[in-house]
Parts: sequence; C-alpha cells; structure tokens
Amino acid sequence: MAIDVVSCPVCRQKLAIQIYMRVGSRMVCANKECGTSLRLVSRRPLQVERVAEAETFNPDDRPESYG
Ligand SMILES: [Zn+2]
Repeated sequence: MAIDVVSCPVCRQKLAIQIYMRVGSRMVCANKECGTSLRLVSRRPLQVERVAEAETFNPDDRPESYG
C-alpha cells in the first residue's frame, strides 16, 4: 500500500498521505471549503495537526514592499 489516509482534524476530510511524506511535511486540506494548513506529526499512528496561520508565512518569501 503506497498511500495512507488520514482525516483532517478540522473538517474530517479524508486526506491521502503519500508514502514519501515525512513527519514534519506540510500539506493543505483537500477540502476547498477548509483549506487548512496541516503538518504530518506522526506516521504510526498516522496523525496530522493544524498549523497556525502565522507559521505558514515564511518572512523571507515576502516582498520587501509588503506592509
Ligand atoms: Zn479540512
């Protein structure tokens, strides 16, 4: 089996976790209504957690003109 499935902690959407995804990998909920940023925190048992919105911003990626 190459794909594991986990439920979004926010909306319970079933999400496919690719075999190559490691703990700490980021993903976004497949439910467009949800779109929550998630992080893989455990493989056994398979578990994801919501990533705080602020954490998803990498300051280095922001244009200098921003704000
Ligand atoms: Zn979701």
